Amino acid sequence: MFIAQGTEYPTPKPDLTGTLWHCEKCDCFVSIHSAHLVEEPHCPVCVNEVLEFCMAFDSSFGQNVGDA
Ligand SMILES: [Zn+2]
Repeated sequence: MFIAQGTEYPTPKPDLTGTLWHCEKCDCFVSIHSAHLVEEPHCPVCVNEVLEFCMAFDSSFGQNVGDA
């Protein structure tokens, strides 16, 4: 492996993946930003309820998504 010293590489940003989850019990949506995919997150409200996966998005493109 060749390592070029003195060369400034842009710091690789963490590969964050945003995922959107839905709780059927309390009908709330939860977005999770994580470097690794969460498989079965639990509802922060219902605690014991496992969230249903809705969609995934690139976090770098989700910066301007507000809570409209
Ligand atoms: Zn819930």
